[in-house]
Amino acid sequence: DYLFKLVIIGNSGVGKSALLLRFADDTFSENYITTIGVDFRFKSLKVDNKGLKLQIWDTAGQERFRTITNAYYKGADAIVIVYDTTCQQSFDDIEKFWLNEIESYAEKNAELLLLGNKSDLNAKQVQSERVQEYAQKRNMVFFETSAKTADGVEEAFKKIAIKLMAK
Ligand code: GDP
Ligand code: MG
Repeated sequence: DYLFKLVIIGNSGVGKSALLLRFADDTFSENYITTIGVDFRFKSLKVDNKGLKLQIWDTAGQERFRTITNAYYKGADAIVIVYDTTCQQSFDDIEKFWLNEIESYAEKNAELLLLGNKSDLNAKQVQSERVQEYAQKRNMVFFETSAKTADGVEEAFKKIAIKLMAK
């Protein structure tokens, strides 16, 4: 069986923990989810009749937990970069901060999954077409998701899993 390690990154509040809980437990909470340090979940999937397991790591992302960065990225097959579609800043910070961190710490051949979360909200600030173009240029898999309604969540993780299996 396949086992892949995924890590979730992105600004505070974009819905990293909510996405993980939606995908792994199929639950959602309107409250901020408190993650102390590092947390991870396993999720089993079946793709083309092949069983695979994803081990997905989540952090709170605050500076005070930054000492774990090295271990967090170590051996990660894929990096899940999350922004909030209703918050331009959370998208801009991918270039300003998160890609630098990936460059410094992630495995060079790690796959990138870009998720524009909170697609259920009617206050969109980040236009899908532009992000689609951006993602294509950087060889990222891109999906818009809602941890709240579950829209796109399973599809996104399946897509990256298929990409990893094909390697
Ligand atoms: P994190 O800091 O990135 O882990 O963000 P959280 O998972 O704690 O989510 C922050 C807030 O956004 C919480 O109040 C969540 O309920 C809310 N949230 C997360 N995902 C979604 C979503 O897809 N839609 C909506 N409407 N709210 C969301
Ligand atoms: Mg969190």
